[in-house]
Amino acid sequence: MDFSLPESAQAVQRGIADICSRYDMAYWERCEAEKRWPEEVWAELAKGGWLGLAVPEEYGGAGQGLLELAVATETLSASGSAGGSAFTYVLTPGFGAMTLSRHGSAEQKAELLPKLATGEIETCFALTEPDAGSNSLAISTFARRDGSDYVVNGQKIWITGVQRATWMLLVTRTIPAAEARPRTAGMTVFLVNVPEAVAAGRLSYRPIPKMGANTTPSNMVFIDDLRVPASAILGELDAGAAVLWDVLNPERILLGASALGGAEVALRTGVGYAKEREVFGRPIGSNQAIAFPLAQVKARIELARLMLYKAAWSFDNNLPCAAEANIAKLAASQAAWEAADAAFQTHGGMAYSLEYPVARLLADARIGRIAPVTEELLLNYIATQVLGLPRSF
Ligand SMILES: Cc1cc2nc3c(=O)[nH]c(=O)nc-3n(C[C@H](O)[C@H](O)[C@H](O)COP(=O)(O)OP(=O)(O)OC[C@H]3O[C@@H](n4cnc5c(N)ncnc54)[C@H](O)[C@@H]3O)c2cc1C
Repeated sequence: MDFSLPESAQAVQRGIADICSRYDMAYWERCEAEKRWPEEVWAELAKGGWLGLAVPEEYGGAGQGLLELAVATETLSASGSAGGSAFTYVLTPGFGAMTLSRHGSAEQKAELLPKLATGEIETCFALTEPDAGSNSLAISTFARRDGSDYVVNGQKIWITGVQRATWMLLVTRTIPAAEARPRTAGMTVFLVNVPEAVAAGRLSYRPIPKMGANTTPSNMVFIDDLRVPASAILGELDAGAAVLWDVLNPERILLGASALGGAEVALRTGVGYAKEREVFGRPIGSNQAIAFPLAQVKARIELARLMLYKAAWSFDNNLPCAAEANIAKLAASQAAWEAADAAFQTHGGMAYSLEYPVARLLADARIGRIAPVTEELLLNYIATQVLGLPRSF
């Protein structure tokens, strides 16, 4: 068994780290405080070809897999962007480019993939609704057939990155949830041109004030008699669940990678302070009460990374990866939270000062235990699908 990262992934690590070396923690602090997209980093990622990492070479990308995308996300996150990088980086190279590469029609791929690879266009992913988050199959946004078109009505919540997106992967029902047999039937994913839908007055959005990850706004989205052609279906009519699984497993792996990077930066910050800060005439890190939580976090990070890379490798090799993706996401999010909490405690009163980064790291780490899937739902999956325990719902 070979545990070394393939050269392709090591090259990604080096390339992204090189860009990140020009943007320190203070840069990410400013982006968060000013609620602004990290334009400079984004431009460098585009220029270096890193946005097309998982786009097939024939469409102008690097033809790499989920493992390389995960390593890129982790590296970006570990550089200081922490949880925010999930939204900065993953929305377009992950949700958009990877999904289109697997499920797009020949026309969709030819039109969109080259532009996704260069960053000329961006994507967002719209699944969650006010009454359907964990129970995503219960969505009610409906696409009604009208001649050769579909007319969509509904409401979405928490949709991140709508402001910059040219295209939205919009998850709808084409068979109402109550009538779908099995429950996964009757889902259809549409590619919606956001600026056009907004200009036509058929789609509007409103940012939700949030406690972190403010480099990318998350929004309420309202869809009102939005007309889309059948050619905008991504994948097959009524069989959108197949597309959805290919978004949701990579999403768990990539946001797990982002959490892992967040854990690394929190640990680094905590260890740095534990070495510098002297109380009772010695560095606080010499107290086991400070050192052990940090050491525990180090162990959790290493364990989570093994599972995360295994999950990504399984996906790239078309092997079942749902159990691995769920376990990796759980482990990485918990590592991120413990790391941020340990760094916070290590900083004593200064943790509460916004002059130090640990409050931001704590807020970013907290998202991972909720989105894109809650810890409880991950545990439900492991309990029922891996251990075979009876379902409670
Ligand atoms: C910052 C942020 C960005 C996001 N970005 C996007 C995005 O871009 N696109 C998108 O589609 N969505 C996005 N989401 C939404 C996210 O995926 C959902 O918030 C998440 O899936 C949880 O759904 P919910 O908020 O409706 O919680 P609910 O489903 O209402 O759950 C509430 C609580 O009940 C628990 N619970 C529910 N059922 C069970 C059960 N059977 N057993 C045990 N516990 C249970 C949950 O675990 C949770 O703790 C984002 C969310 C956040 C916070």
